[in-house]
Amino acid sequence: MSSKCPKCEKPVDHVNARAMPIQASTKQWRGVSYDCPHCHTILSVALDPAAFKEEFVQDAKRR
Ligand SMILES: [Zn+2]
Repeated sequence: MSSKCPKCEKPVDHVNARAMPIQASTKQWRGVSYDCPHCHTILSVALDPAAFKEEFVQDAKRR
């Protein structure tokens, strides 16, 4: 599999993961951003799956 960065058009063989808080109106989740290693453009952002699960369990307990 080979993919190119849409910005610098260099081949991307790995991405840099960085902690990236995701802000909603009243909440903030732990997220992860995936950056191009060449130009540091953010290629994708995702929720930290572990944090999301934690949040979900706490929410479920409150109800
Ligand atoms: Zn790039």
